[in-house]
Amino acid sequence: GAGVYYGGTVAEAFFCRGEDIYIVGGANSAGQAAVYFSRYARTVTMLVRGESLSENMSRYLIDQIEATKNIKVRLRTTVVEVHGREHLESLTIIDAAKNEKETVSATSLFIFIGALPHTEWLESVVQRDAHGFIFSGPDLPRDESNGHFPKGWALDRDPFWLESSQPGVFVAGDVRHGSVKRVAAGVGEGATAVQFIHQYLGSEER
Ligand SMILES: Cc1cc2nc3c(=O)[nH]c(=O)nc-3n(C[C@H](O)[C@H](O)[C@H](O)COP(=O)(O)OP(=O)(O)OC[C@H]3O[C@@H](n4cnc5c(N)ncnc54)[C@H](O)[C@@H]3O)c2cc1C
Repeated sequence: GAGVYYGGTVAEAFFCRGEDIYIVGGANSAGQAAVYFSRYARTVTMLVRGESLSENMSRYLIDQIEATKNIKVRLRTTVVEVHGREHLESLTIIDAAKNEKETVSATSLFIFIGALPHTEWLESVVQRDAHGFIFSGPDLPRDESNGHFPKGWALDRDPFWLESSQPGVFVAGDVRHGSVKRVAAGVGEGATAVQFIHQYLGSEER
């Protein structure tokens, strides 16, 4: 109710009818929201940190955004402050190209960013990629010195799909290296991991 939202459903669309709204993000979620809200809001401004939309967004969405008159895209732009007492009143943004701070009136801010895995605490437990996402199953880097098994893998079988470099530790959802970052995928992987957990617990390996 404070004007800062993390989703783009019909309820939010209702609240922002006729408004000038801001969307933070430059990937598909942000693009889909911009196209959707453009039907309700007076203007939609996308605040994108990157150099271009094509870095993270599908072409069909970029085409739709370019063809929609009331969507404006501001590249190399970061929100650094939000202001307001009971409700959002304004944003301070930095345009990296000009290195200038600017404060704009705003009553609705939609946030469509945020895919950082917080897996530092697992550093010595499971193998992770350079961004912290956890390797599992066929994605585990192979160790040439012990045949085709992952480094440190002590069992005489391949890791199950979704099994990390630590036998019996399974990964599901966004935190998995190579995941598609969708709710349905995360739920499906969770259910599948349970099957593998049963197999693991039923084996002699523990
Ligand atoms: C802006 C945005 C828009 C999106 N839109 C869509 C969409 O329209 N459709 C769609 O299908 N998907 C969408 N997604 C993706 C979707 O939200 C994710 O794919 C999904 O939430 C992944 O579920 P998850 O359980 O893997 O991870 P999360 O939902 O991130 O859940 C992980 C949980 O683990 C908790 N946690 C983290 N570390 C620890 C710890 N050490 N101990 C205990 N708990 C911990 C976190 O607090 C969090 O609650 C969107 C994502 C974003 C960011």
